[in-house]
Amino acid sequence: MITIQKQKIQGLIINNTSYKEDSLKVTILTKNGLFDYIVKAGKRINSKLRPLAQELTFVEIVTTSNKTLNTLTEGVVLENYTLIKEDTNKLLSALAIIEYGKVFINSFNDVEHVYNFILEMLNILKKTNYYHAGLLIFETKLLYAVGTGPNFSTCCKCGSNDAYYLDVTLGGAVCKNCLTNTSYNQEITKLFSLMYFIKLKNINEDFLQLIDNYSSILYQITKEYYATHFDYVNKNHDLLIEISKDN
Ligand SMILES: [Zn+2]
Repeated sequence: MITIQKQKIQGLIINNTSYKEDSLKVTILTKNGLFDYIVKAGKRINSKLRPLAQELTFVEIVTTSNKTLNTLTEGVVLENYTLIKEDTNKLLSALAIIEYGKVFINSFNDVEHVYNFILEMLNILKKTNYYHAGLLIFETKLLYAVGTGPNFSTCCKCGSNDAYYLDVTLGGAVCKNCLTNTSYNQEITKLFSLMYFIKLKNINEDFLQLIDNYSSILYQITKEYYATHFDYVNKNHDLLIEISKDN
């Protein structure tokens, strides 16, 4: 006997791919993790369900499923992120955030926490023009969720209390006696720790502007972090750097 189940789901669409002739397979990030569904005829321009298959869209949908396949039956778009999509730089920042979500989904102990974090950062991106800063704060704070939160309290080498110089390879700050030519200076280390510790509700335009002013060196740090500890480089972030260079 095949049981048909109806499910109501809220979440952020993070991917879609071709499925059979004119359908789409969509991946949505929900507070419980990833969920796939098929949008029948979703590739057709006049499909009413097509808006519920677009990347970077926040939706509430109803799917029906048999054992193997979830099929979209109805739904509404709750947020289209038009303010992000109409600005190439903001769009790339948002896609970079989504990319982190996709790549590290299995590393998150608390998926709901990361899900809410992603939605809140997208809301910040909507309002600010400091898109570099928004993305940098996201990837810095995400280090905690992927289990690589930097240690700023004691020297990563000798354990002393005056640790002011970030060393990415060691995963935190070192003291004056232990610093090497790969350590970052005190000012940059301070900014990086501010990004790591700031509460989302305290992120305002002044803070975003401050981070934006140092975005090149701060991206060097976050890039080095993910490359060193995960052998991973975020493609959309690199593309954003390429494109924003020309402007
Ligand atoms: Zn030391």
